[in-house]
Amino acid sequence: MSVAGSIHPLGRNIRHCRNCGVAVIYRVPDDGDTRERAVCPACGTIHYENPINVVGTIPVLGDRVLLCKRNIEPRRGKWTLPAGFMELRETAAQGAARETDEEAGAHYEMQGLFAVMSVVHVGQVHLFYRAALLDDVFDPGHETMEVGLFAEHEIPWEEIAFRTVREALRLYFEDHRCGSFDRVHAFDIH
Ligand SMILES: [Zn+2]
Repeated sequence: MSVAGSIHPLGRNIRHCRNCGVAVIYRVPDDGDTRERAVCPACGTIHYENPINVVGTIPVLGDRVLLCKRNIEPRRGKWTLPAGFMELRETAAQGAARETDEEAGAHYEMQGLFAVMSVVHVGQVHLFYRAALLDDVFDPGHETMEVGLFAEHEIPWEEIAFRTVREALRLYFEDHRCGSFDRVHAFDIH
């Protein structure tokens, strides 16, 4: 998962009109909107800033979950699930699979949606799918130092890179113990 440099996740990132290049003004548009937007004073274009989708997988082999040790900032050296920003022209599941290919180089079958987490303070929505690993052969890309398989008692809880990943893992093992993945977990991270 990479993070866009100086972009503020809660908005006010737009300086110039994408249509004509004139400097925008942040104000409430005259169309009944209730929020401030980047409005172009020249051509009237309104620019919307909305949350970003982060998509990933919980790849599983038996009772062990695959984690990637990050080779990039932020949180270099910490462990994470394969996940990253969704791209245009792909579905959420395709994005999650792409990130799993890029970060782990794993062989797997995609399974159902597991969790949807709103992370309001960073302007993101995280979606995690379950994935069934077909073997333990991995070929991680440059974003990953190392790939490991961890049973619940082996998870390096203090070395997990992101809170959404910690929550997804905690819920995964809870469901694993119950033997049921019927329910999609939807919750907010504050
Ligand atoms: Zn304009």
